[in-house]
Amino acid sequence: MQLQFIGCGDALGSGGRANTCFHVRGEHSNFLIDCGASSLPAMKRLGVTREAIDLILITHFHGDHFGGLPFFLLDAQFTRRTRPLVIAGPLGIEMRLKNLMEALFEHSSKTQQRFELSVVPLAPEETKTFGEVKVTPFPVVHGESGGPFLAYRVEAEGRVIAYSADTEWTQTLIPTAHNADLFIAEAYYYEKIVKNHLSLATLEAHLGEINAKKLILTHMSDDMLGRLDSLPHMAANDGMIVEL
Ligand SMILES: [Zn+2]
Ligand SMILES: [Zn+2]
Repeated sequence: MQLQFIGCGDALGSGGRANTCFHVRGEHSNFLIDCGASSLPAMKRLGVTREAIDLILITHFHGDHFGGLPFFLLDAQFTRRTRPLVIAGPLGIEMRLKNLMEALFEHSSKTQQRFELSVVPLAPEETKTFGEVKVTPFPVVHGESGGPFLAYRVEAEGRVIAYSADTEWTQTLIPTAHNADLFIAEAYYYEKIVKNHLSLATLEAHLGEINAKKLILTHMSDDMLGRLDSLPHMAANDGMIVEL
């Protein structure tokens, strides 16, 4: 199984990076985690076969994680997709997706798709299985608008992938990523503590109890991107592939 960072940037395009979108592909699983606004062009640049993707997990309703869905759906329609697609995310996702589609492409939410589209709300700490992919969402803390906010612990093909989503430090990141094969964690600032986002220094204080086998930093601001050469951790890059 492998995970490719389609985009690992923040909402501000820091470092010219694409918005958040991770593609996981294995023998029996093919899914995205988040689909930020720039995800479709980034997928096309990397040659990702969109038709093969059968699940998209959304962490929250900010444009850099969620804004790519109308483009993905439009592309699916125009490329005559037939494979069913599941989009799963925080409670309220049905209405949020409809509103987003109407804002970007008027009447597009009423289009009858050629493929079966299911939009599935996920409640915190309730595990759901999609084919061979087992998903457990955990609530995280990321401000007042754009929520509910979920981090994900995803089990597929004997591997555990955890993603913090955007969040300030919260204890739920421990069950999210405990003993995970891969923990993708936001590291927005190096040591500056801010509301709603995670700093590397705060994350580092908890890495022992999280005990993930591999850590990759993502969603970095210019403050972090300027330190990439001296970081003691692996950091994501657009297009980077991790074998699991
Ligand atoms: Zn973000
Ligand atoms: Zn966000």
